[in-house]
Amino acid sequence: MTDTVVTEQFDVIIIGGGINGCATFRDLCLQGLRCLLLEREDFCSGASGASSRLMHGGLKYLETGEFRLVKEALSERNMLFATAPHFVKPLECVVPVVSVWGGLLTTAARLLGLRVRLKDRGLLLTALGLRLYDLYGRSLRATPDHRMVGRRRLRQMLPSLADKHKGAGLYHEGQLTHAERLGLELVLDGLAASPNSRAENHVQVSGRTGESLHYQQGRYARQAQARVIVNAAGAWIDRVNEVLGLTTHLMGGSRGSHLVVDNPSLLQALNGRMIYFGTPDGRVNLLYPFNGRVLVGATDIAQDDPDTAACSPQEVDYLRRAVAMMFPDIPILPDQIVHTFCGVRPLPRADGEVSGVTRDHAIVTLTLPDSQMPVHCLIGGKWTTFRAFSEQVSDRVLADIGRPRRTSTVGLAIGGGRDFPLNASQRSHLTSQLATLGGITFERADCLLDRYGTRARHYCEQLDGHGEIPLRSLPDYTREEIFFILSHEKVGSLTDLTHRRTLIALSGQDHPEVRSELAMLMAEVAGAGVPH
Ligand SMILES: Cc1cc2nc3c(=O)[nH]c(=O)nc-3n(C[C@H](O)[C@H](O)[C@H](O)COP(=O)(O)OP(=O)(O)OC[C@H]3O[C@@H](n4cnc5c(N)ncnc54)[C@H](O)[C@@H]3O)c2cc1C
Repeated sequence: MTDTVVTEQFDVIIIGGGINGCATFRDLCLQGLRCLLLEREDFCSGASGASSRLMHGGLKYLETGEFRLVKEALSERNMLFATAPHFVKPLECVVPVVSVWGGLLTTAARLLGLRVRLKDRGLLLTALGLRLYDLYGRSLRATPDHRMVGRRRLRQMLPSLADKHKGAGLYHEGQLTHAERLGLELVLDGLAASPNSRAENHVQVSGRTGESLHYQQGRYARQAQARVIVNAAGAWIDRVNEVLGLTTHLMGGSRGSHLVVDNPSLLQALNGRMIYFGTPDGRVNLLYPFNGRVLVGATDIAQDDPDTAACSPQEVDYLRRAVAMMFPDIPILPDQIVHTFCGVRPLPRADGEVSGVTRDHAIVTLTLPDSQMPVHCLIGGKWTTFRAFSEQVSDRVLADIGRPRRTSTVGLAIGGGRDFPLNASQRSHLTSQLATLGGITFERADCLLDRYGTRARHYCEQLDGHGEIPLRSLPDYTREEIFFILSHEKVGSLTDLTHRRTLIALSGQDHPEVRSELAMLMAEVAGAGVPH
């Protein structure tokens, strides 16, 4: 006898829990809709967990004339400094230059639509670009204007930088300290706003009958119906469409890899700054301090099958060589690479080199075969622009089902960014409160505030003054902290815990003994039947 599968009713089904799916989920939940978010792996485990972790306008998009994108992204970046201050921090960036006039003619040709590579971005071009960047970033401005420095000042600032540089442009971007948690917090905020909504990770969309969508959750076959479908599956959009019965060729992915490097000399040489630099192949790469390590990225290689994307030895060599061009006396040794990650940018299908494909976002609306149901496919988009993009998508969905927008996400704080201290004295006050609540030291409370923003208050309340027990294998984390995450944050696998809920893997601490201790804690929680 087969079990009868009950069909659950929702207003909207969102397939894909990357940043665009998570943000659309939050926005639509806030409008009072009943939403179902389905993610086949974990939230932000696709491109959204593999980005360069910058909230940025995209200085290089000025070279291709994507002014609308730069303006929108800069305004969103500035807003994020206020709405997610726990995870989006200002980062000083240095653009070193080797010539004065380089790139002016090539840029003019590119703006006229010619496909030529920009191999040298000189002092004048950089100054012009940064000036435009300041102008486009005026809305909600949160960081100082750019400045140019000459050779002598540059050497004082970055003595280990290669001697060939004639000067540099200095400006600020946002550093996203924990992308995966920001995505998760959007989901949790959505669920808090619309308790009848559901967000499921580790589920497989398996097919469709009429307007019912089938998906597999562990051992259970499930069925759901809605009035609108949002396909937010990133590089997998065409594949999800196929499951829905739609044949599309919308996507053309580009693989990007990063290295996390444990090289104290390099970290020290950066002195807290990001170096954003062009390479002779016309690409722009970056390196900056990341959680006590150095993050180096990123490659840009056409990738047809997103499931097979992996950081190749050639990409590792390429990135090591790129850094050596900047810091010739500080080589990155193979055993200093403590972690690598790779993802596929969900770009629209286009001819030519992937580096030339637009990074702007667009919504392609299709109709489910034999039905009137709209399927909105979210193509492209930067991490930085997730709020604006999800607002545009949500407005379409609201129009589809004839509901007005109840509330805006403009300026709305996210998760642990709510009531986040605005200055050092407020921070110190809150940290003392957390320390007392939890029975922990001031330093530990400060670390929790960095990791979880003001969500740390809920955790410390649960500690109820009893303090914590550090993990044997990684004393930087505690048993209580891991139990809290396992109980409240939809952890479906050990990798969810090491790679996304915590920075354990990203900081190169994902050692076998750590994994085995964490696995034991997971077993304890599962044994105790703690819901998550
Ligand atoms: C190397 C690299 C560097 C980048 N750097 C930056 C940067 O510094 N700043 C910036 O703003 N942007 C950056 N980006 C761009 C940004 O990361 C992406 O545009 C953004 O994350 C795309 O989000 P998404 O939600 O559309 O796609 P994804 O994050 O890929 O999400 C799609 C999700 O759909 C899920 N899925 C797939 N198939 C199914 C299915 N059948 N059922 C259910 N779920 C499914 C996947 O598991 C995945 O989680 C970078 C991207 C890359 C790859």
